[in-house]
Amino acid sequence: MKTASAILPYFVFQNKPVREYFPALHQQVYGQSLVYFDNAATTQKPQSVIDAIATYYATINSNVHRGVHYLSQQATEAGEETRKRVAAFIHARHAHEIIFTRGTTESINLVAYSYSKLALKAGDNIVISAMEHHSNIVPWQIACEDHGAELRVIPMDENGELLLHTLDNLLDARTRLVAITWISNALGTVNPIQAIIQKAHALGIPVLIDAAQAAPHIPIDVQAIDCDFLAFSGHKMFGPTGIGILYGKEEWLDRMPPYQGGGEMIKSVSFEKTTYNDLPFKFEAGTPHIEGIICLKAAIDFLEALPLTEAHIYEQQLLQYATEQLQQIPDLRIIGQAKKKSGVISFIIEDTHPYDVGVLLDKMGIAVRTGHHCTQPIMDFFGIPGTVRVSLAVYNTVAEIDRLVQSLDRVVSMLK
Ligand code: PMP
Repeated sequence: MKTASAILPYFVFQNKPVREYFPALHQQVYGQSLVYFDNAATTQKPQSVIDAIATYYATINSNVHRGVHYLSQQATEAGEETRKRVAAFIHARHAHEIIFTRGTTESINLVAYSYSKLALKAGDNIVISAMEHHSNIVPWQIACEDHGAELRVIPMDENGELLLHTLDNLLDARTRLVAITWISNALGTVNPIQAIIQKAHALGIPVLIDAAQAAPHIPIDVQAIDCDFLAFSGHKMFGPTGIGILYGKEEWLDRMPPYQGGGEMIKSVSFEKTTYNDLPFKFEAGTPHIEGIICLKAAIDFLEALPLTEAHIYEQQLLQYATEQLQQIPDLRIIGQAKKKSGVISFIIEDTHPYDVGVLLDKMGIAVRTGHHCTQPIMDFFGIPGTVRVSLAVYNTVAEIDRLVQSLDRVVSMLK
């Protein structure tokens, strides 16, 4: 068992606790210091990101691409700087393989619409997994419905691990895409995406990776894993809300039709014929989320300045400690016991409703998420209405986990 004293009390970054960089963590709710365990939903923002947003509006606020004037050029340059930064962050071959979207959800919808228009025909199939977020299920259901295709699902076991041997039967000559989450937001399972990509590629099938939960925790190298598409959200990795990334291999993005029509995504427009713009602008219709794009760079700067290996080890220690401590609580059952997990612990306590547990914890200053976490099929699989979910970030501490466990003891005595 990992004793609390074997783990650093908090993660240190540039000579001070990393949580010092996050102003929102230092507040009281209901008269108690906040414990924020809802990081899989969204992370708090470091001061540098908050400052970058204010600086943008105080200095170079302007619409991009269309202006000849100084501010517009500055804003355009800053936005394109972020694109290069994102490309380097995930090791994309080209900056134009990075498309700015509103988030993971829009990135997946873009591919589901546009790739399906290119490649999906009646009788084809798309393969997803049993542990997908709704945003990696519903867009494919819509695409399959639109094109007369079939949606197939890789099953999982009671531990929350995918049954990969089933891929041999699920993938066939009519499979047009595999869309799979790297890390499950509800179970914390880290999926063996490399093995899945290799299996799919052996049959010439492209793969989309939902990296919403991976981007804040795992180094991403899209060329090394050789995925065809990868989607993630800025707000889950210390960045602003409303900005997301779609990475796509040039060979696919070039061939795919636009997702939305409007300004910026065209070269020329007449009533007879419109010519589309080059990558990446073909997929970026309208005024983008300029401030979000520019300030995403500050989030990546922060994330990359963190010693990632140490941060990962620290998060894994917190996860192990929290798991062991929570298991001491009578009648508490952890949902999702995969061998390889990221910092997510979903649980239920017998004879209590997750919502009641969440509400009482909130009144004790502890922010957790309750419900189905946009993964209803997972809840159906386990035959439960929802879970209480504790999701960790590098700024969480052992003391916070201890407070959670003590508070849960009180919650249980109040509810039972
Ligand atoms: N996929 C996963 C695994 C997620 O955790 C989330 C967010 N909970 C999403 C997709 C959707 O992300 P967003 O709401 O930022 O578009």
